[in-house]
Amino acid sequence: MKHSFIALIEDKCTSCMLCVRECPAWCISLDSHTIDVTEEGARRPRKVNVLDSFEIDYSLCMYCGVCIDVCPFDALAWDEHRALVTTNREDMLLGIVELGPSGSS
Ligand code: SF4
Ligand code: SF4
Repeated sequence: MKHSFIALIEDKCTSCMLCVRECPAWCISLDSHTIDVTEEGARRPRKVNVLDSFEIDYSLCMYCGVCIDVCPFDALAWDEHRALVTTNREDMLLGIVELGPSGSS
């Protein structure tokens, strides 16, 4: 497995913040909000986190894989078919769209 790119599977992410806290380089950031989801037969609404933003700053990332290992929901995974190639530091900050399976990096 080539460790060249970390992909985010957005619909698996619960915004639990584990990857953000465990990343030794502090290069992951995310924002989320909470909504109430009412399910049929439930006595009260369930609180669900909705991801607003998720970013990895690849100018700081060490490709250690800690974020992938700690994610309890398999929302992060190595993508050996992609690699970030740029000479511009600003282009190394990737968000939900770029990190997603259909990202263009
Ligand atoms: S691979 Fe390591 S340094 Fe890079 S985002 Fe994940 S935990 Fe952070
Ligand atoms: S550890 Fe996984 S589920 Fe939790 S915020 Fe990070 S990517 Fe999302």
